[in-house]
Amino acid sequence: MILTDTHTHLYSEAFDDDRDNVITNALENGVKRFFIPAIDSSYTAAMLSLEKAYPENIFLMMGLHPTHVKENYKAELSHVSNMLSKRKFYAIGEIGIDLYWEKSFLKQQQDAFRQQIQLAKKYHLPIVIHCRDAFDEVFEVLEDEKGADLHGIFHCFTGDINQAKQAISYNMKLGIGGVVTFKNGKIDTFLNQIDVKHIVLETDSPYLAPVPFRGKRNESSYLINVLHKLASLYHINVEELAQITTENSKEVFGI
Ligand SMILES: [Zn+2]
Repeated sequence: MILTDTHTHLYSEAFDDDRDNVITNALENGVKRFFIPAIDSSYTAAMLSLEKAYPENIFLMMGLHPTHVKENYKAELSHVSNMLSKRKFYAIGEIGIDLYWEKSFLKQQQDAFRQQIQLAKKYHLPIVIHCRDAFDEVFEVLEDEKGADLHGIFHCFTGDINQAKQAISYNMKLGIGGVVTFKNGKIDTFLNQIDVKHIVLETDSPYLAPVPFRGKRNESSYLINVLHKLASLYHINVEELAQITTENSKEVFGI
């Protein structure tokens, strides 16, 4: 069984004490492919050294996270495009709009999102979208930018069934993680009405640990808990679901 964690912040400070153990533990549980979203330039060196340590398993993205879009966002976007011009990345992410933490930079977040979508098109890369309290704003941008040259993942999808269908209509897969195991997570009530070909797995570790680890530090080996919950929703066995979702991730990332 080969599982793909399509969204994990393994370079986070939360793993500084035991990163190798966390990765070994994940590998032993079948989680062999880790896609690593960027946040801002302060993490780039840590991402590169992670890739150097596990070149077979680690696949890096490049991008500016919406909650890190501040006064200096233009310099951060230059860093993103500079890195993209230098070497291979597997997606532009994570990018999008977040109005939960901060509303005052909405204009800048929208601008950064649009500019990074242009980079994705230029480099023929998928996008990985972060959307929190901002479905209307994200969909407005996607409506303008949609087309055969845009695809990717709606990371940590937590919307309703109509929002799921709308995201899929923009060539986005739904990134499903710990929230599907939560009692009040809601997405478990309709996901089986969405064709499994649109689903990829993720942890978003160190955040959003699935039940029974909810509230603790999340890690990629807990992808198993997400897999089991989804398998029961779809009435598919876990090996088959692992294979389907890994295939879906290959379709997105091209590897
Ligand atoms: Zn993330």
